[in-house]
Amino acid sequence: MRAVRFSPVTGNPEVAEVPVPARRRDEVVVRVAACGIRGSDLAWFDASPAPRTPVYTPGHGAAGVIAEVGEDVALWAPGDRVVVADGRACRNCPECRKGLSADNCSDLRFMGEHYDGALAEYLVTPATALVAVPGAMPLEHAAVLSGALSTTYGAIDAAGLRPAEAVGVWSSDGIGNHLVRLARICGASPILALDRRPEGRERALEQGADVALDPANNRVASYIGAITKGRGLDVAFDFVGSDSTFDQAHAALGARGRLVMVKTASEGSFGMRTFSEGDEGRTVIAHTGYRVRHLRDLVELAERGRLDVSASIGAILPLTRIAEGLTKVREHEDDPRRLLLRP
Ligand SMILES: [Zn+2]
Repeated sequence: MRAVRFSPVTGNPEVAEVPVPARRRDEVVVRVAACGIRGSDLAWFDASPAPRTPVYTPGHGAAGVIAEVGEDVALWAPGDRVVVADGRACRNCPECRKGLSADNCSDLRFMGEHYDGALAEYLVTPATALVAVPGAMPLEHAAVLSGALSTTYGAIDAAGLRPAEAVGVWSSDGIGNHLVRLARICGASPILALDRRPEGRERALEQGADVALDPANNRVASYIGAITKGRGLDVAFDFVGSDSTFDQAHAALGARGRLVMVKTASEGSFGMRTFSEGDEGRTVIAHTGYRVRHLRDLVELAERGRLDVSASIGAILPLTRIAEGLTKVREHEDDPRRLLLRP
């Protein structure tokens, strides 16, 4: 099959002919219809990491059609349309040894990083990572759900966001806008976007933020107090991760407020940990990645028209134009739309 292969030695992704990866009894082979590329992929290539295999197939955030199922796979059949969650259980941690699902694994392996990914004609994945795509939904739309949208949705779930709660989103790139859209669907009110860039604030308002503020403005704290009628934020999401955003977001929390620090790069733990801090019952939550159930929820929201995915798709290029695709992503770093490759 044709696949993008990345060598950490040369630092370049190249298209090559390779065998379809070996499949286990509980895994399936998916013919990839579309796979996204985004800023986090560039960060990964540029960092010249040392993955387990010296040359590997990158790519995650993909949808396609099942081509082959393993002997132990009962719930799926060839021809099923699916979107693929990015993780694979390690099979070795205490949770895996207990026989729990991939959602419980404490050492999840990442697609396109620890095992061959989706920038290829075929990918191999555990059957437990699949979510069915309804017949009316284009596979390109489904591919976009797996990635930035599911990570931000996972962050909302981690916060336990409830309707009518006041939300603040600190962001410096497009991903915060996904959160604004999803928080709106979840009933958050009011929604405040904090972004240093004027164009970032403008986009946040287009996506449904009630108010957009410049975090560098020294009156931000009093504005937040006024907008929330003195109660402060119920949930703050920090996508920037600097000391200043943490301090500002934490100080803006009301009683029992939750600050979710969202790490969008796929390094570190896939899970989340919670610890209490301060004397008002405030909570700080570290969040990264998402679970299969988050992807399932997003498919439901998109299928019923709650979430419009079409606006999240940028250009669609053939796999062979990977280099051009990466250049486009590099040049439009602020663009929240996803570029897709079609093998
Ligand atoms: Zn495990």
